[in-house]
Amino acid sequence: MKLVTFSVDGREALGRVDGDGTTVRDLRGVVGDLSLLEAITAWERVGPQLAAAGDLPVVEDARLLAPIPELRRDIFAVGKNYREHVAEFGRSGYDTPQRSEDLPDKPIVFSKATTSVTGPFDDVESHPGVTAELDYESELAVIIGTGGRGISREQALEHVWGYTIINDVTARDVQRDHKQWLLGKSLDTHAPMGPWAVTADEVGDLAALEVSSTVNGEPRQKAPVADLIFDVPELIRVISAGITLLPGDVIATGTPAGVGIGFDPPRFLQRGDVVECAITGLGAIRNTIA
Ligand code: MG
Repeated sequence: MKLVTFSVDGREALGRVDGDGTTVRDLRGVVGDLSLLEAITAWERVGPQLAAAGDLPVVEDARLLAPIPELRRDIFAVGKNYREHVAEFGRSGYDTPQRSEDLPDKPIVFSKATTSVTGPFDDVESHPGVTAELDYESELAVIIGTGGRGISREQALEHVWGYTIINDVTARDVQRDHKQWLLGKSLDTHAPMGPWAVTADEVGDLAALEVSSTVNGEPRQKAPVADLIFDVPELIRVISAGITLLPGDVIATGTPAGVGIGFDPPRFLQRGDVVECAITGLGAIRNTIA
């Protein structure tokens, strides 16, 4: 199932995307004002209701919001999790204080503030005066279903509700200058998400999915999820070792090579640029730098 949060009369509503991804059906007749976060939290009851929902009204010109517009807490994000990207990041000089092209031996986990989340087709603010070095990072994002602590690798995927796409937009100068990545990763509108939240049963072989991005139509990133250094079960195992994962938590799994700082000289985003991030079967998000 592909679910969306859309805006109608200034309010948020839950929708289901059918067919080729262009038809959004209004689920309010089935679940009322339930949000996707609430639906995920009560999925055992709500999931079958949504799956069984028959002919629902089609929403014309639905304005899609991020699937979970107000996250329960900050996004867990993973740095340097694709081999080639580790090399380009190390070479760039932006990897401080320990500049290194070595592969990490443990996942590097940081966070993005909830307030950085924005819709799949909304503008990304350029924040002049705060940053002059805007970059893009196309990523597979995991949405947790059943929470838990001390989750094993073997059981990890049972805790996954589904997947979506995130552009882990990054202010490289802020990331570099402040050493800790929170500020550089968390500027408002710097986490476009969507376009849909896709249930895990619909995704199939995770490793076969391909993560890609373009800037103004020019291909920049392209890699299979199989290239992750630390795969999804490992990330869930490591994060949940001492932190209780909660339903609706989002884990951005890292980005492949081909980001702006991977070029020499770097190719930062400029106002008016259009960034598209896509993943096989999960659709594509497209955002203009405003
Ligand atoms: Mg990232």
